[in-house]
Amino acid sequence: MKRAHVLIICAAALLAAALFLASRAGPLENTAFAMDTVISVDIRGMSRGRTKKLLKECFELCREYEQALSRTVAGNDIDRLNQGETVAVTEHALAVIEKSLMYSRLSGGAFDVTVLPLVELWDVGAAQTSVPGNADIEAARALTGYENIVIGGGNVSLGGGARIDLGAIAKGYIGDKMKELLISRGCESAVINLGGNVVTIGDNGGKPWAVGVQQPFAAQGELAAVLRVKDKSVVTSGRYERYFLREGQLYHHIMDPATGRPAENELDAVTIVCDASADADALSTACFVLGSEEGAALLESVPGAEGLFILRNGETVATPGMAAYMDAP
Ligand code: AMP
Ligand code: MG
Repeated sequence: MKRAHVLIICAAALLAAALFLASRAGPLENTAFAMDTVISVDIRGMSRGRTKKLLKECFELCREYEQALSRTVAGNDIDRLNQGETVAVTEHALAVIEKSLMYSRLSGGAFDVTVLPLVELWDVGAAQTSVPGNADIEAARALTGYENIVIGGGNVSLGGGARIDLGAIAKGYIGDKMKELLISRGCESAVINLGGNVVTIGDNGGKPWAVGVQQPFAAQGELAAVLRVKDKSVVTSGRYERYFLREGQLYHHIMDPATGRPAENELDAVTIVCDASADADALSTACFVLGSEEGAALLESVPGAEGLFILRNGETVATPGMAAYMDAP
């Protein structure tokens, strides 16, 4: 063999070895930015190659559903509904809207995806640092009401000038779909974290997954509790997550549809554990608006749902079944 040929073969072999090592070395990129938040997927017990492929699929699914369910994507079903059209919505939009309606009825309107006019008026989390006037609040509140959502024959329309925002439930729904995807590909152990909406698959090497509950208003990672769960979803709604301060008063992003203002009660946060993340997500928002007593009563009517309420005075109140997920005091 000619010397030049030998050199080319050696170089090719070295390149192949380098590529092989590169594909095995270094941490897998398992985080992405979507739905205005950092999302992460931690897959256990699968080969590096399959894990990499699955992560890609998961993030693609997440982006696809975000496009379908976000109110800020021009021309999607939600945008068209909000423009006043009657829309033959996609299966996913229909599923989320139907579940939203169910929780609106169950919570007596504490959960209500037609709060968009109020969400826009208060604009918490953007540059907003002023409190809207009463007349503006009343005008926005007059446009809200889940009774204005009309579903029939796969079509959806919004009456009375209503407009919807699925922000309190879509992340949960998408988390459930990511979980379904992973299970369908043979995954038996994983944690999906969509900016604090946690979805678990199986357990962590024979032990439950440990999911931290953030201490409200404390440094990121300072925990109020650790919940030990298998196959469950853990979702928190809290007024510490997005807020602004004005003249000593805190205004946050979870609206009480009854008052048109950020929900005011004894709570700083509420964490829900249940099987499906869409349910946990809707329930966390509903319970936050209702407060600990009415919230706990709501949870009693939902089989398998448990709640941990963190009060402003630092105390915690848990529904009886929550003990199964908590370390003994
Ligand atoms: P979450 O963090 O899941 O409690 O959802 C809060 C988000 O849902 C807000 O940022 C709003 O976009 C929207 N939202 C606010 N108040 C309500 C409510 N009472 N019912 C349904 N969605 C709401
Ligand atoms: Mg929610």
